Amino acid sequence: MFLFMNSPVGIDPIAPRQERLRALLERRRWSFLLVSNPTNVFYLTGFRGSAGVAVIGLREGLLWVDPRYTLQAREEARGVEVLEERGGLLKAAVAWLKKKRAQRVAFEDTHLTCAEYPNLKQGLPGRGRLISAGTLIEDLRYVKDEVEVQCIREACRLTAKVFKEVLRQTRPGVRESDLAAEIEYRMRRKGAEGRAFETIVASGPRSAFPHARPSAKLLRKNELVIFDLGARLSGYVADMTRTVYLGSPPRRIRGLYDAVRRSQLRAVESLRAHALAGDVDAAARGELARRGLARYFTHSTGHGVGLDIHERPRLGRGERSSLKPGCVVTAEPGIYIEGLGGIRIEDTVLVGAGGPEILTLVSKDAWFTD
Ligand code: ZN
Ligand code: ZN
Repeated sequence: MFLFMNSPVGIDPIAPRQERLRALLERRRWSFLLVSNPTNVFYLTGFRGSAGVAVIGLREGLLWVDPRYTLQAREEARGVEVLEERGGLLKAAVAWLKKKRAQRVAFEDTHLTCAEYPNLKQGLPGRGRLISAGTLIEDLRYVKDEVEVQCIREACRLTAKVFKEVLRQTRPGVRESDLAAEIEYRMRRKGAEGRAFETIVASGPRSAFPHARPSAKLLRKNELVIFDLGARLSGYVADMTRTVYLGSPPRRIRGLYDAVRRSQLRAVESLRAHALAGDVDAAARGELARRGLARYFTHSTGHGVGLDIHERPRLGRGERSSLKPGCVVTAEPGIYIEGLGGIRIEDTVLVGAGGPEILTLVSKDAWFTD
């Protein structure tokens, strides 16, 4: 879907992004950045095709696409000249850089393949230097702009709505895979481009696998069921987990759920500007440790979301990245006990200037059926 369709009226996010990138290029004395990761090409130009190579210079902006994408690129891309190329896109970009006698060219070393590297290296003029761009664009994506926040907000709203609907169909005798299919179908019916990741519906002892795939297993009375779902909308994703119990939960399950609930609340509350990612993880982990449950919490507390389902920062042990207003991350502590099942609660949360804002608004209190 075209990027600006869901954006607040009149805002073109591309120009400011390219401007921020150019300021970084200038500061580092890089003449050009060659962008080949499709997600980053989309972020910097608005073009959503699966193949395209962009070159952004201090004054120039170009995008090479193959004939499949020429029309689409002309419609979607902003701030770049669209060039159709029937040979290799990278080769064409390198030939252009050579003609320009480009000196210091940064490239996405985390994305380019080993096979492509020699073409790039040999294609540049004699004194041209290739520089690894590292996570430069990912650093820009770390803080979401207004349009991005709006897109993620919509994806979260849609995800929450779908979950509430499917919860009404969640009862003993229903198949895990049928519920997962229902979730993904409803996402599309509500205008999502699809799911952001493979939907998880895991019941009973299977809920103890943090990344269980929906199976043909039927839900049964007196079982935990974990739902982990997220829609993709305008390129942006949502990520949400709820755990429910089919029946009246015994005391032990109530206690465990309450512990995860508190741990998640602590994580959300600590998602403040300037907080360290590792401290958020420690807050969630500490809450579970207090009840002797830390060893059942086997993953990190959360991750950034945006165009990708897992982005920086990682909210894990000892992580030193500092949160900024405009970061969007998940808070998702969970415990997994073999034979008994798992409990995880996850929200997508915006780190706002005035504090954290939960974007996946679904109750965590109405979690059992009677
Ligand atoms: Zn999730
Ligand atoms: Zn997640």
